[in-house]
Amino acid sequence: MTARRPLIAGNWKMHKTCTEAEDTARELIEKVSDVSDVDIMIAPPATALAPVFRIIRDTPVELGGQNLFWEKQGAYTGEVSGPMLVSAGCRYVIIGHSERRQYFGETDENVNKKIKAAKDAGLIPVICVGESESERDAENTFSVLDKQMENGLKDLSADLFDGSVIAYEPVWAIGTGRTATPQQAQEVHSWLRNFLKKRFGQSSADRTRIVYGGSVKPENISELMALGDIDGALVGGASLKPDTFGNIIKYKR
Ligand code: PEP
Repeated sequence: MTARRPLIAGNWKMHKTCTEAEDTARELIEKVSDVSDVDIMIAPPATALAPVFRIIRDTPVELGGQNLFWEKQGAYTGEVSGPMLVSAGCRYVIIGHSERRQYFGETDENVNKKIKAAKDAGLIPVICVGESESERDAENTFSVLDKQMENGLKDLSADLFDGSVIAYEPVWAIGTGRTATPQQAQEVHSWLRNFLKKRFGQSSADRTRIVYGGSVKPENISELMALGDIDGALVGGASLKPDTFGNIIKYKR
C-alpha cells in the first residue's frame, strides 16, 4: 500500500474580515512552524485569499478556495474562476461542500464541471460527498455516495482525477458536534477507496487521499487518523481558532 501524506484542511466558511483572516493566519503559521509531516491548507473567504497568501507564502501552510465557477471568465456576476483562485495564491479548491449543495442548489453535475475546471487551472480539488441524517437512517448512505461519486466523477480519466482529494463529510456531523464514530468513518472511507479502485484502478485508489470532515476537534482527531483509510481532515468550526486548529494539526501520531 502506498503511504499517503495526510492533509489537514481548514474551511473558514463565511467567517473573518481581511484583517481577522490575516491575524489568524499569522498565529497559525507560528503555531505550526515545526510541523513537516502533514500538508496544511486553509480556505478563507474569497475576499481574504490574496491578503492571507501574502502572509503564508513560503510557509508550509497552503491556500484553498471554498468554491469556484467552471467558466474561466465572463458575465457571471459574483463568481470566481479557477485561474482567479490560482492568481490569488490557491493550490486547492473545495468543491461540492454540503452547504453549497443545500443553500445554493449545487448538483453532482455542477460538481463534475467544477472538478474539470479546477484540474484545468492546476488546482487540487477537494471533492466533498456525504449523506444526510435521514439518508443514513433510511440505510441509503452507500446509494447516496454512489450517486454523488458516479455523477461527480463522470467522464474523468484516471489521469485527470489523479491528485484529487475526496472529503467524506456526513451532513449530520457538520457543525453539530456529532462526529461519526471511527468505525462509521472507516467503513465509508474503505467503501470510497473501493469505489476509486473500481473506477480508476488500484494504484490511483491507493494514492488518493480521503479525508474526513464533521465536527473534528483536537479531542477526536488522533482516533480518526489512526484508521487505515482516513488520510486527514476537513475542519470547519475548529479551524477558526489558530490554537485549536494548530492542536488538530499537531495530533498525537
Ligand atoms: C465543514 O464545514 O467542512 C465541517 C466539517 O464543519 P465542522 O468541522 O464545523 O463540522
